[in-house]
Amino acid sequence: MTNPMPPDGMTKPRFAGPVTFMRLPQRESAEGLDIAIIGIPFDGGTTNRPGTRHGPRELRASSTLMRRVNPVTGVAPYELCAVADLGDVTTNPVDVLETLELITAQVAEIRAGGAWTLVAGGDHLISLPILRGIVRASPALAPLGMVHFDAHSDTNDSYFGGNRFTHGTPFRRAIEEGLLDPKRIVQIGIRGSLYAMDDMDWARAQGVRIITIEECERLGPDAVVAEARRVVGMGPTYLSFDIDSLDPAFAPGTGTPEVGGLTPREAIRMLRGLAGLRILGADVVEVSPPFDVGNATALAGATMMFEILCLMAQARAEAAAGG
Ligand code: MN
Ligand code: MN
Repeated sequence: MTNPMPPDGMTKPRFAGPVTFMRLPQRESAEGLDIAIIGIPFDGGTTNRPGTRHGPRELRASSTLMRRVNPVTGVAPYELCAVADLGDVTTNPVDVLETLELITAQVAEIRAGGAWTLVAGGDHLISLPILRGIVRASPALAPLGMVHFDAHSDTNDSYFGGNRFTHGTPFRRAIEEGLLDPKRIVQIGIRGSLYAMDDMDWARAQGVRIITIEECERLGPDAVVAEARRVVGMGPTYLSFDIDSLDPAFAPGTGTPEVGGLTPREAIRMLRGLAGLRILGADVVEVSPPFDVGNATALAGATMMFEILCLMAQARAEAAAGG
């Protein structure tokens, strides 16, 4: 059986044809897939500028610029794995709690069939039901480790009078629910003004390794990668990439921009440095097209998705080989 392939960009121009993730075939079912790319168009967890419900559509459009082979690692993900666009998860734009369960159930169904998931968001709250879905399908994977690129720790307790489900709280909930092992979480690029000086005390007390943007700069990307690898180790690991980890000069189309961030070049270098880890699920979140400029943010997001897909395809192929 041959894997699904994007059409050859030399005979069918990349600007032509249907708009799908990476120009891959769109499938109704994850059967037979190693990796399903799905959209979660939901921004009901947003606490500031909205619009990430439009993220999957624009990430699809920008992802059509991606070619087939990683220029540095040489990974050709579609030769290693069966990958397809599985469409968008059903959400309810006016009901956060119902949507959490809808996402959990749909992710669990895909994963129970054997496919790993690479998700295009959506605001960062969606990482919580994705993690719930992964663990619902495979309880033995819990608690997962996580490499988390973000300007924000997303480990606040609640917003606006006790609301516990926002894009500022997903990883607090995930730790509380035993989905993530806080001692195997590394957060990279954290910065920006705080609500209070003790905002991140809870996360640090759980053992989360927070690498602020100041420490990123001091260490340099290669040492940050080494530290991330030390923290997550070789256990099963989730990768979450909030586009606001990038500087708003490169990624203005996002809900909660913070100046002084990563360059795309640094982020790509760090992602490539994660090769060999057991990354079996990932998301790219917080792309908000209404605030974007010239599709810069969507293109940055689609590029990170391609880099992450290469990591996952490699990990999946190693897992299939019994490595
Ligand atoms: Mn975030
Ligand atoms: Mn953020």
